[in-house]
Amino acid sequence: MSAPLRIAVVGAGPAGIYAADILKKSVAEAGGDVLIDLFEHLPAPYGLVRYGVAPDHPRIKGIIAALREVLESGVVRLFGNVRFGEDIHVADLERLYHGVIFATGATKDAPLEIPGIDLPGSYGAADFVSWYDGHPDVPREWPLEAKEIAVIGNGNVALDVARMLVKHPEDLLPTEVPANVVAGLEASPVTDVHVFGRRGPLGVKFTPLELRELGELRDVDMILHDEDFGVDPDEEQQKQNKQILVISRVLDQWRQREVGHASRRLHLHFWSRPDAVLGDGRVEALRVERTRPTEHGLEGTGEHREIPVQAVYRAVGYFSSPLPEVPFDERRGVIPNIAGRVQDGSRPVPGMYATGWIKRGPVGLIGHTKSDAKETIEQLLSDEHSWWTPEPYDADAVPRLLAERGVAWTDIAGWIRLDEHEMALGAPHGRARVKVVPRDEMIAVSRDER
Ligand SMILES: Cc1cc2nc3c(=O)[nH]c(=O)nc-3n(C[C@H](O)[C@H](O)[C@H](O)COP(=O)(O)OP(=O)(O)OC[C@H]3O[C@@H](n4cnc5c(N)ncnc54)[C@H](O)[C@@H]3O)c2cc1C
Repeated sequence: MSAPLRIAVVGAGPAGIYAADILKKSVAEAGGDVLIDLFEHLPAPYGLVRYGVAPDHPRIKGIIAALREVLESGVVRLFGNVRFGEDIHVADLERLYHGVIFATGATKDAPLEIPGIDLPGSYGAADFVSWYDGHPDVPREWPLEAKEIAVIGNGNVALDVARMLVKHPEDLLPTEVPANVVAGLEASPVTDVHVFGRRGPLGVKFTPLELRELGELRDVDMILHDEDFGVDPDEEQQKQNKQILVISRVLDQWRQREVGHASRRLHLHFWSRPDAVLGDGRVEALRVERTRPTEHGLEGTGEHREIPVQAVYRAVGYFSSPLPEVPFDERRGVIPNIAGRVQDGSRPVPGMYATGWIKRGPVGLIGHTKSDAKETIEQLLSDEHSWWTPEPYDADAVPRLLAERGVAWTDIAGWIRLDEHEMALGAPHGRARVKVVPRDEMIAVSRDER
């Protein structure tokens, strides 16, 4: 390789940033040079680490420090507040780069098709998460009027949502939670949050760490039901898995606890498949059907019960959005690919790659996006014969193009400015940071245009 390899990455979440890092290191090891431009729709980088991971998980949010090192390595340029498909298109990228890696993740809730799911008072977890994590593109107000709330799902996002709903807001104060969110949570009359899973207590998708955290919430009783335990004849076999064994021990400890003194309760219901949201004009109850294990999975028992709730949150998974001019698998919600090479039917699409949640679907932790990126970069680097042929390099080409299109992009220096500004807002209150939420304000701080 004589002239530097030029690669665009779309999406500055962990997948896009890890891809940039691995690409940079791999090319350097081979004695070559690479220039990487990272295009991000939001004025700030880090995707769901900033706008998904719960504010009371500072250890996970701390991954941002490692991601920032990649951005500051000198090989990567960040173009924030630039939306692929609106501000920049495939034809632009073909003209300026040898290839593109799409790392656009997933932002929407997967659907749950049960009657009543669209009633007022029924929400998607992704929307609530965006609200409490201060996403600039969602309304600032969230209706927290329910005393009793149902959360549907047995994964970590369901636990995050349940925890954020039931936790006393003053216990969130040391975190980076936005001020409007604290105010919203302070006004919440919630007393009971019910989490429903259709499988048994050992069939959950929680990780032990996240589960254990629930039991540490101040002034919140954990309520479990004896009839949900000892149902599955395969329990002992399942406990051979270390993670499941830990989960089982945590749940058993909670079952021994004395309850009845706390002002709020978190109920875990297993073997409970939601089959309708009920209400006359708005949510009044959730109906669930009891399930039982079979040789091949689960079946309904025909036994139903109604739990009075005034709000329902479905946390049944995320779903990605299609990108203009890029193949998309509507069923799986991913860019079709083989090991990261984008496919159009059975043909690979030259110059296009995918990584992270848009590549393999919205499951897995931040760490998994690293192994994803490694695989994608291996494919990209072995495809030299099919890379695009860009125009000669001109460092100003992208800034010029964006300026012509009237895009107020933000860069790494701008992110550092915003980061420092947010930390300074938090310091007088002993808080990690106070997030700037409005997009205009984020841009103004980043571009030093206040
Ligand atoms: C609620 C929630 C909590 C989580 N908590 C944890 C946790 O505690 N620990 C953990 O390890 N993992 C956690 N995860 C999982 C983790 O967030 C994901 O594994 C990871 O973020 C996926 O990375 P990604 O880069 O593929 O996608 P994302 O993080 O979604 O990043 C994609 C980026 O692409 C950008 N983008 C999208 N479309 C465009 C476009 N058209 N143009 C330009 N840019 C675009 C987005 O703005 C975003 O910044 C959580 C996930 C969720 C949903």
